[in-house]
Amino acid sequence: MVPPPMNMPVKPPVAVVDAPLYESAKKNFPQSVHGRFRSIKWVLMAVFLGIYYLLPFVRWDRGPNSPSQAVLVDLPNTRFYFFFIELWPQEVYYFTGLLVIAAMTLFLMNAVAGRIWCGYACPQTVWTDLFYAVERWIEGDRRERMKKDKAELTARRVGELVLKHGIWLTIAWWTGGAWVLYFADAPTLVKELATFQAPMIAYACIGVLTFTTYTLAGHMREQVCIYMCPWPRIQAALTDEWALNVTYRYDRGEPRTSIKKAADLRALGEKAGDCVDCLQCVAVCPTGVDIRHGSQLGCIQCGLCIDACDTVMAKIGRPSGLIAYDNDVNIARRLAGEAPVYRFIRARTLIYTGIIALVAGVMLYTLSTRTLIDINVLHDRNPLFVTLSDGSIRNAYTIRFLNKRSDLRTIELSASGVPIPVLHVIGEEPASRTIVAVGPDQTREVRVLVTVPPAASIQASNAITFTARDVDSGDRATARDHFFGP
Ligand code: SF4
Ligand code: SF4
Repeated sequence: MVPPPMNMPVKPPVAVVDAPLYESAKKNFPQSVHGRFRSIKWVLMAVFLGIYYLLPFVRWDRGPNSPSQAVLVDLPNTRFYFFFIELWPQEVYYFTGLLVIAAMTLFLMNAVAGRIWCGYACPQTVWTDLFYAVERWIEGDRRERMKKDKAELTARRVGELVLKHGIWLTIAWWTGGAWVLYFADAPTLVKELATFQAPMIAYACIGVLTFTTYTLAGHMREQVCIYMCPWPRIQAALTDEWALNVTYRYDRGEPRTSIKKAADLRALGEKAGDCVDCLQCVAVCPTGVDIRHGSQLGCIQCGLCIDACDTVMAKIGRPSGLIAYDNDVNIARRLAGEAPVYRFIRARTLIYTGIIALVAGVMLYTLSTRTLIDINVLHDRNPLFVTLSDGSIRNAYTIRFLNKRSDLRTIELSASGVPIPVLHVIGEEPASRTIVAVGPDQTREVRVLVTVPPAASIQASNAITFTARDVDSGDRATARDHFFGP
């Protein structure tokens, strides 16, 4: 870390905000804004909403016996389909891997550019942004909305409110509706929903999600970010001095003054800050934050105040970037007359990237090399073994075969590790005592008896390995257990 130079202030020279400990939430009326970050947010919103609403309708051919929906959580059959990947309940560790990658990606984003997840990709931000767009379209921009909020109700105003809440509820309903489409064949479920023939649970889920979307994005908005979400607190503990956050460059902005006074001061060769105290940065903020007070829990790092301030700077003929993605280290360096430095490669970004690469690599490797056949073995608890009348020793097992392919498989079972084991799959014809047919994308559980002849020398406990081999393709899977003797 570069230490701040001596005798240079490292905190914004602003008055201490006299904030009460408890305060009722104030209504927020963010103003519309144009600029780089607003455009990025529009594009990302379109991409995220497009993916969310349309993905259930994307088809993926997996053969005649499997669903053709690209992304599907098949709860009745306990399967998860994601394009070419099909996960079984036994493969739940992939979800653990995904969670680790998601957490590390969030940490990495935070180490590079603070809460960019919050500002651009969090569903709360995306849907609230959409709801604000509807509100602005119907009720007008900030000033009009503030005026209307205080004014008496008129028929026109009631009409506006009905329209706004109607559109909000429709969006919320579609949000819930799209969610349930991930749990069943989407086109079929849409038809069933439209003809009131869908399962009751689908309507219940849509109802709950309609309510939560309407409440969180329409009414609670920034309060979710400020009061409910744990991430701002966690993020504050994870950040460091090199992370780029939306920063008011007070080295440039202070002392703030009016345009005219600033011009007069500059003409006299005295220092005047670039901030003209126009409060545009506060007016556009979706959480009502004044970024000039420094980094705050309420700031979701959306960059809209950057756009607002850049517009002001362009109008008054000053360089853009009075508010920008930056950090206090660089402010201190500029105050000391040094060039700013940006350190994206440092211990924590390398560690996060390494963990992401490692987990993703392991997941990809296991996914690409996994067999689509599996076997689980469970030894009988009691009795552990039986001595037959001829002196042979017999152990019994419950064996489950998993056929993860979409066609019928003929599986041959064999065992090794004990001398001359004779297998008998109970219920199968004597002629094919070790052959088991397993249906497409199914599991089959069988009882198996393993007998070793009387002359064989076995211990009280012997390792035994069962092998399931696909007779046609040669795919195989093994499982280890024990064979017990006297
Ligand atoms: S928009 Fe820029 S100039 Fe206006 S108050 Fe905010 S920081 Fe100052
Ligand atoms: S302060 Fe700026 S970056 Fe932070 S939430 Fe408000 S507008 Fe977005």
